[in-house]
Amino acid sequence: MPVESIFPRLEALLPKVQKPIQYVGGELNSTVKDWDSADVRWALMYPDAYEVGLPNQGVAILYEILNELPATLAERTYAVWPDLEALMRAEGVPQFTVDGHRPVRAFDVLGVSFSTELGYTNMLTALDLAGIPLLAVDRGDDDPIVLAGGHAAFNPEPVADFLDAAVLGDGEQISIAISEVVREWKAEGRPGGRDELLMRLAESGGVYVPKFYDVDYHPDGRIKRVAPNRADVPWRVHKHTVMDLDEWPYPKKPLVPLAETVHERFSVEIFRGCTRGCRFCQAGMITRPVRERSITTIGAMVENGIKESGFNEVGLLSLSSADHSEIADVAKGLADRYEGTNTSLSLPSTRVDAFNIDLANEFSRNGRRSGLTFAPEGGSERMRKVINKMVTEEDLIRTVTTAYSQGWRQVKLYFMCGLPTEQDEDVLGIADLAKKVIKAGREATGSRDIRCTVSIGGFVPKPHTPFQWAGQADHETVDRRLRALRDSLRGDRQYGRAIGFRYHDGKPSIVEGLLSRGDRRVGSVIRAVWEDGGRFDGWSEHFSYERWTAAAEKAGVDVDWYTTREREENEVLPWDHLDAGLDREWLWQDWQEAVSGGEVEDCRWTPCYDCGVCPTMGTEIQIGPTGRKLLPLTVV
Ligand code: SF4
Repeated sequence: MPVESIFPRLEALLPKVQKPIQYVGGELNSTVKDWDSADVRWALMYPDAYEVGLPNQGVAILYEILNELPATLAERTYAVWPDLEALMRAEGVPQFTVDGHRPVRAFDVLGVSFSTELGYTNMLTALDLAGIPLLAVDRGDDDPIVLAGGHAAFNPEPVADFLDAAVLGDGEQISIAISEVVREWKAEGRPGGRDELLMRLAESGGVYVPKFYDVDYHPDGRIKRVAPNRADVPWRVHKHTVMDLDEWPYPKKPLVPLAETVHERFSVEIFRGCTRGCRFCQAGMITRPVRERSITTIGAMVENGIKESGFNEVGLLSLSSADHSEIADVAKGLADRYEGTNTSLSLPSTRVDAFNIDLANEFSRNGRRSGLTFAPEGGSERMRKVINKMVTEEDLIRTVTTAYSQGWRQVKLYFMCGLPTEQDEDVLGIADLAKKVIKAGREATGSRDIRCTVSIGGFVPKPHTPFQWAGQADHETVDRRLRALRDSLRGDRQYGRAIGFRYHDGKPSIVEGLLSRGDRRVGSVIRAVWEDGGRFDGWSEHFSYERWTAAAEKAGVDVDWYTTREREENEVLPWDHLDAGLDREWLWQDWQEAVSGGEVEDCRWTPCYDCGVCPTMGTEIQIGPTGRKLLPLTVV
């Protein structure tokens, strides 16, 4: 049976809302397949506004892969702004996809990609607008399977009650496998209803179905154990890893937004994973091992992407793009190929060394020299050792001096505040560093026309990292240190005016901390916040700390217990049954080394230090087209 488009009803509301174009779809390379031609239908949601969600690579890749399957269709849905939400509620218009404007409830699977935990309340809005019961236990056979993915899905426990399932890791292969399970189950006449479908997914070991696991607690609130409540459901659910990225050269047909979005460029992911071992970085830990795309595939993807989209900016994406073993050849090859055209290249990279500046010089041949970004992350040498960011002050000064003397005028430096073991002087060290950067730049150029911007965010300990046991700094401490840093920068007559300062207060980090390391009991807080009007929590103008603390108090959830409390080694963590491939003992050991000043090197270039990922995945890190380990490149 075809499903009717809700567009005629939506269209009547659009003149009354801001940025109506974000709801109309029809972008270049978007796809609307015939409803009846598909056996399995996915609605893919990015739980934020269209302008943030459209450029998301994860959703774009799955959208294409699923639509390429003959018997599957996929459409996209985004969080609607509160103005449209109010009108939709008043007029009874359900949550819709922007492609076919079909009601989300009509789909078989609603896949939600969480880059951050602050999108949880937006998922609840979408479920409610769609007419899908908020709690998984209340859903019937006609409701879609609500499935979470993305980095936050590595601890989906705070939203476990709202989810039917979650998937860890790369989505390319598992989304196809899930489609096949759903197709078979439907073809057989849906035996056993929703429960059997979820059971078939859970039995595979690659899909986590929270309702098949019971959580027991100690009287003091710590988790006693998480155990499957059905036979044939595995004790641990493993993550998915695509081993050969060259076999998956997506996106092939990049979506070109109609409305303004946060990035308007074609992005090619040049590798996945990172083995630098920064202890705060969840993305680096959970995406191991490193898997590079070959230089030939990168070149082909860039050429094809430009042709298919018409974008004139290409971004080379990864967690640390300058670390690709052939990045010098990639940069030179692309800069040569597009020299004199209107295509510009960008390398969002944060490595602090001269090599990075050579790359930036290559990439700016065709474009503007705006600014260079480096991420020392910690303000003092001691702090950088604790987080395993092996950058010395000397490295940084040498790098920025090279940048300024080669014509760059603006340098951005990223830091974090509230890191484990941090003292006031570690944060004040950021001011000293920034002043030295300006001093070095003035000396190198003989000009006062140089700038440095310090951006600083609150640190949140994340699951599956060595800091998963750490106590988070309270927001009063973070705010006090940030104020002292601001005063030190602004009060400096000699350098203060050349240094910009951007920071966020510490309260949103506390909520993010609650959601990151929370367990199933935190679900009632999320629901209460949403019922109280919580929406778009990642946007400072919508975020309300008071709303979160009031909801936590009402639900009897102690926010400090979840955030500022340091955990013991043997405490069962809410995500221990979810396997990111990392050896728990290695993580603990690395946490101990952080406190005692031990460092780990990047295992791309040094011997394996047994983090556990490669043996678990039955593989090894993959760099270079031959698969051989290449030495780090020197300056081009
Ligand atoms: S198992 Fe060894 S080689 Fe593989 S990512 Fe971990 S430390 Fe590196």
